[in-house]
Amino acid sequence: MTDTSKFIREAKAFEFYIKTIWPWKRKLVKRYYSKRCVRCTASERYSPLDEQGICRLCRDDKTSTDNNNLPPSDILTEQLHQTMASYVGKGQGDHDALVLVSGGKDSSYMVHRLHEEHPKLRLLTYTHHNGFMSSVALDNVQQVIGKLGVDHFFYRPRMNFMIRLFRYQLTHLGPNGGYGTVDYSDGELLLDSSMNLAVKLKIPLVICGYSRYQLLDGFGCDTFLLPDQRRYSDRKEIAGNALQDIFPNEGDQAIWWHASKWKKEQIPQMAFPLFAWDLAEEEIRAKVFQLGLLKAGMVSPVLTNAEYIPVLGVVDIHRDGYSSFEPEFSRMIREGKAKKENWQYIWEVLEYTARTGKLISGTIDQTLARLGLSRQDVGIKYQK
Ligand SMILES: [Zn+2]
Repeated sequence: MTDTSKFIREAKAFEFYIKTIWPWKRKLVKRYYSKRCVRCTASERYSPLDEQGICRLCRDDKTSTDNNNLPPSDILTEQLHQTMASYVGKGQGDHDALVLVSGGKDSSYMVHRLHEEHPKLRLLTYTHHNGFMSSVALDNVQQVIGKLGVDHFFYRPRMNFMIRLFRYQLTHLGPNGGYGTVDYSDGELLLDSSMNLAVKLKIPLVICGYSRYQLLDGFGCDTFLLPDQRRYSDRKEIAGNALQDIFPNEGDQAIWWHASKWKKEQIPQMAFPLFAWDLAEEEIRAKVFQLGLLKAGMVSPVLTNAEYIPVLGVVDIHRDGYSSFEPEFSRMIREGKAKKENWQYIWEVLEYTARTGKLISGTIDQTLARLGLSRQDVGIKYQK
């Protein structure tokens, strides 16, 4: 059995378990998971609950301030449209824009819409394989680029480089846990490698499918464009860890973005359309089915995300009591961009499995083995 089929088998079993068994089982095993806010599903370990079961974030309702200060989505959408249109024919090579596709629903929807709205914008789609891409995500990429008939570039950095990055970051977690350290580093590498490819192919625009929430929480971004300061600076650290410490070998640093190697006018712009469109999860899901971009059962984040994600969740729960992915989703629920019922059971079952070792322990052990780590190295200890 290949590595990836084991992950898919356990991921599907995990989803099946959530839908069919957990609704009654959960009442019997309450000792294994925390109480959650009745409104936004935030764990009590993250945001304390009052007697009504409402968390502090829901009571204060301050989290949406930065979002409310943004222009309305139709104005941002129009600004984005103008920006995209201004790049038509601007590439000095064969393409005007490099579009990142990951096999998830967000980037699949995004590339379709860009292709529809800007038929003259010459797109090169780009997939960066981090060594832990699931086979479902890979199939989705094939499906989407085949359907749209667009050029595609596939890049897979050498495995020992990826393992060095993930292994170091997983054992040097910052305050925002696995999401803010390991997954964030993976995202930063993706952006850096896409900037490098674009600059070499003389493509003036990179387009990435990060959601508004990923940008607000992860980058402190307040427009759909990457801040200039990020574009024009050299990579020195990732998620608080110095590049030099992770990669003492000079050759391993080349893949990262070093703006100083290029003239200012050669450096591509980077845009995030989903920041402007600001769609809810359900809207995107419905559209990718309706357009026939992805098949039902192929859009679950549990299946299309990197195979190391379950390990991050489990490590976080042992360290902090909740997964570092949860705050972003509870915020989306508070702001009406995600459905509470889609996420509550996922977080509960993740806690249950993190504490008991049931359901996904095969995936956990397999990923740790690939990274050359043991459960002990990352603080996982199952309860009897
Ligand atoms: Zn809440």
